[in-house]
Formats: sequence, structure tokens, C-alpha cells
Amino acid sequence: CGIVGYAGTVTACGKPLEVCLQGLGRLEYRGYDSAGVALAAPGMAKVAVRKKAGRLANLEEDVDRRPMPEATVGIGHTRWATNGEPNDVNAHPHVSEDGKIAIIHNGIIENAGVLRARLVEEGYTFASSTDTEVAAKLLGKMANVVIEQTGKPDLFEALRRVARMLNGAFTILAVDVRQPDIVVGARHDSPLVVGLGEGENFLGSDVASFVAYTKDAMEVGQDQAVCISGNRVAVTDFDGNEITDSKRFTVDWD
Ligand code: GLU
Repeated sequence: CGIVGYAGTVTACGKPLEVCLQGLGRLEYRGYDSAGVALAAPGMAKVAVRKKAGRLANLEEDVDRRPMPEATVGIGHTRWATNGEPNDVNAHPHVSEDGKIAIIHNGIIENAGVLRARLVEEGYTFASSTDTEVAAKLLGKMANVVIEQTGKPDLFEALRRVARMLNGAFTILAVDVRQPDIVVGARHDSPLVVGLGEGENFLGSDVASFVAYTKDAMEVGQDQAVCISGNRVAVTDFDGNEITDSKRFTVDWD
């Protein structure tokens, strides 16, 4: 239902978590049944994930009680369940088989059943009954294929390949501990906007996600993918062709 992403250049700080929780608070007006965050930083073996059914306050209390590690990038989600009941396990983020990648998703993946059956045949296991976890497992698989083919991790390329395989509506954001300086996103029939900061950039399902930090924004178009780091924003189509005419605008409310 609601999506936030943050990439900064300062390592080892609490900013990604702060931005995600702040942004999710701003998105509460949309309604939701669960909330969660994932963080990545250099040296992490697996993404740090925390998620809770119910109010955002449940997640915040949990994070206060058991502090999360410092991070360079983060993603946050409020869920409005479509596939799988609202509970802690079905809440987003969902992770890849090796735990190195976390994703959040708005929308419904119509061919999740077929894709899931194929992955189960290949030995993949599922913790939740969501369509989103299918995309998480698929992205983990595709990220490893890209590493095999090119010799280095490229989450942006892996997400584009996954986006081409999905039917239905989606905005997906992902982080990977092997590239703890970027957040990648893709959208089809579901919104995604970029918030442009100084030494930091943001992603959101709407500008409310990041308006507390920047009013300088940019649209991600239909069937486009985006990669943000602290000091760079790249947009492509799902085939990897660079998009150079993304529409920029200024948010004119507080
Ligand atoms: N279809 C996904 C789920 O049920 C995402 C729902 C949403 O947009 O929040 O988990």
C-alpha cells in the first residue's frame, strides 16, 4: 500500500531507518494492516528485516526495544493485504532464499501462482502465502544469474529481468547487502516517485513518503526502473535503455 526507500552517502548512521519510519507515518492516511522495514550496510551478511502486523506503532515499539543495525540504505512498507491474510509473516519486506536481498511491493502479481510452482519445483521454499515473496525469491535467483554471467552483482539489471516476467500491477523496491549503496525500483500500473536530496535520494509511492526531507521530485514512468544512490539517480526502461526525459517537479505543499 505505502512505499518508502532511502539511499545516503554517509555510512553507519540511523538515517535510513528514521526516513523509512517517518515516511510510513506520513503514508498512514492510505490505510494498511501491517508495516515493515529492511536495512542494508557494507559488511552485512544478510539484510536486517523487521515487520509487524497492525499499527506502525507496533513496529516502532519493536525497533525501540531491539534496535536495528546502522545502515546506508533502507526500504519501508505498509501493507494492504491482497494475497495472504494480514500477519507478521505475510508482512513485507520479503527476502531472497539466501537472505541477501529484501523487497517490498505494492499491487498484485497475477502470475504469482505459476511462478511459485516453478520455483518450488526448483527447490525454493516459501515462508509466506503472498504474491510478493514469489518476486523476492525470483529476484534472488536472477541476481545470482547476473553475477554468474557478468562476474559482479547488478541488482538493477536483476530487477529489470524480474519485472519483465511479472504480470499484474506492481511497484517493487529492493535492497541487496552486496550493493549496500543503492535502492532499486520498478513499476507497472502502480505509482513510484523519486525525491531528490543532497547526498541522499528517496523513493516513494507518493511524495508524502519523503516530503519532510525534500520537495524536489521526479516521476518514474510506466514500465520504468530506477536506481538511486546517495548521489545518483538512474532511470531505464525494463530492457535497460536509459530514460533521459523524466519529468521533474516541485512539491508545493508542507
Ligand atoms: N499483494 C501484496 C500482498 O498482499 C501487496 C499488497 C499491497 O499493495 O500492500 O502482500
